[in-house]
Amino acid sequence: MPPIDALTFDLDDTLWDNRPVMEHAEHGHYRWLDEALAAWHGAQAASLGRYAERFPLSAYQTRRQQLAERVPLRRGDFTWIREHALRELLEEYGLPRSAAAMWAAAGLAQFLDLRHRLTPYPEVAALLEALGGRYRLGAITNGNVDVTRLPIAAHFRVTIAAGEMLAPKPDARPFLAALARLGSRPSRALHVGDSWREDVLPAQRLGMRVAWIDARNEGATSLPPGVHRLRHVSELPDLLAGLD
Ligand SMILES: [Mg+2]
Repeated sequence: MPPIDALTFDLDDTLWDNRPVMEHAEHGHYRWLDEALAAWHGAQAASLGRYAERFPLSAYQTRRQQLAERVPLRRGDFTWIREHALRELLEEYGLPRSAAAMWAAAGLAQFLDLRHRLTPYPEVAALLEALGGRYRLGAITNGNVDVTRLPIAAHFRVTIAAGEMLAPKPDARPFLAALARLGSRPSRALHVGDSWREDVLPAQRLGMRVAWIDARNEGATSLPPGVHRLRHVSELPDLLAGLD
């Protein structure tokens, strides 16, 4: 095998624990929207009723699923799906179309603000700093984190928002785009990610080597060639040393 010159990283649940981030953002922005609407439409709210009582969080989640099915091209563009689901619900709530669009945008801005309040695992900054001296680093995410809003952004030469380019992983295109922009090739690159379906399988099929972060200890008994199982991203330098 040729030596590795590029590393691509998944973000959510690879470089930080994303579940608490999403839970906080999901509840937080919806509560904010409900309270802001009640404050703004105090008089009108008497006739419309409280927004989140008529459309609880579960209704918003169901609407997002329905939208993803109705507009499959956008299924991986979670920002678009959230904003459009909110717009639809707010119009059904009784707001005029323009007000629904404005409040949906405001709710989404709240969500994205909370979504970026995350803390990478403590080892991550030093790890990327050290690896960046030896390898070209890229990030490939299906999520709607904007890496440039995070302090670790400086370590990545390339960041790919695969959902927003309408080709979410396991589509091969975000991997190929990242490698092209890093000036690498699959045989010279290793992808690091936690999802068997969205990270491991597509990268392995392209001929990349893969570090599978098996944080949930799903532990496939036999790994395909070129796939290595780690429990945590902090184990990556040891793996790379062994591969070299
Ligand atoms: Mg992930």
